[in-house]
Amino acid sequence: MYKLIYLFLFYLVIVSCRTTTGLINHEFPDPVDTKSVDVFGQRKQVYDIQGVYADNEFEGARLNDFAKINNELYRAVISPENYPINGSAYYSLRIWADTIRDIELELFYTKHNHRYIPKISYDGEHWVNMNPMDFDTLKAPNIATLRLRIGPEKTWISAQELLTSKHVMDWVIEKRKNPNVHAEVIGKSKLGRPIHALDIYNVSPKNKDAIVVFARQHPPEVTGHLAMESFVEELLGNSRLSKDFLKSHRILVYPLLNPDGVDEGHWRHNAGGIDLNRDWAIYNQEETKAVAQDAVKRINAGNNTVLVGLDFHSTQKDLYYTLTDNRQSHVYPFKDYWLEGIDGTYEDYSPDDRPNDLNQPITKGWFFLQFGAEGITYEIGDETPREFVKSKGATAARELMELLILREKK
Ligand SMILES: [Zn+2]
Repeated sequence: MYKLIYLFLFYLVIVSCRTTTGLINHEFPDPVDTKSVDVFGQRKQVYDIQGVYADNEFEGARLNDFAKINNELYRAVISPENYPINGSAYYSLRIWADTIRDIELELFYTKHNHRYIPKISYDGEHWVNMNPMDFDTLKAPNIATLRLRIGPEKTWISAQELLTSKHVMDWVIEKRKNPNVHAEVIGKSKLGRPIHALDIYNVSPKNKDAIVVFARQHPPEVTGHLAMESFVEELLGNSRLSKDFLKSHRILVYPLLNPDGVDEGHWRHNAGGIDLNRDWAIYNQEETKAVAQDAVKRINAGNNTVLVGLDFHSTQKDLYYTLTDNRQSHVYPFKDYWLEGIDGTYEDYSPDDRPNDLNQPITKGWFFLQFGAEGITYEIGDETPREFVKSKGATAARELMELLILREKK
């Protein structure tokens, strides 16, 4: 009888190994505790102060309080979802008034300092940078004073243009029109928002080399998202290069890893209060677990070799976090040739390569440990001109395709 029970348990272990399809925990030199912690929401409301209004009743908003300081000086209090946290001091609010008037608006950060140039919109879709003459941080680094003319028309003021989960959903629906794009909801975030995957291949995904693309683990990192869009669109383009590339390669794209953080207007974390890009060792958070499981399952089922893993982010300036030469991927030294190709495309721009060894459990290391792939964190500056972001994303895709096709023909 005991023998039977042991056999049954053994069977269960085998079955459970199979169902996790090769997703393994990884050891990184600097582990991080990624068990959930509390986050503090913002109360969604319209503030009404004697004919001047502000609100946060839209997705991607971040406004924790609003008050009048004196005559025409108002204060918007901005707080992160929890603390300690990276200094991505994100804000997004609307303001309007019964009659046209000139006011000063303080963005008052309870943690960290002002970081993002205010972006202005009158419809939540079209944005312009605020004129540098119209705002300053002279009072204190954690207070930005904006000089505004407001009236009955609502004015959006946002750290970055709003790119919420609705935008990503629309983008996925648009890409899905391409017959090579197989879109699926592969899981749910902690608050139940869908997590999308685009599985891109021509005819069959089997036995092809693959690349894996992640974006938007960190909510305010909109420029990284824009780079990802143009990168993927170039891979899907009508050029001879793109068509040839897709004949022999599979591309897995996860365009929005942190939909809760994005729609809740978080500075950095998911709804579990955790930086998802520290959770690639044991997958404590729903989002990392869903994406890691799905990617590994598809790659194993397709008998694919992942050559490159790219994770799109934003920071103060454009740069590439890569791995040091002691971590040699299947396509080592791919990134040196790739960055050289990007370098050669632009006269007045040279890629800033920042190699470092495995450290915390981030995707760059995960791509390497899980798949033996070249792991790259593709960083775009917060204020890099959007046209250049798009151009460089497309260039990065072309250089990648050329290199990997040449490798194949070797
Ligand atoms: Zn990031």
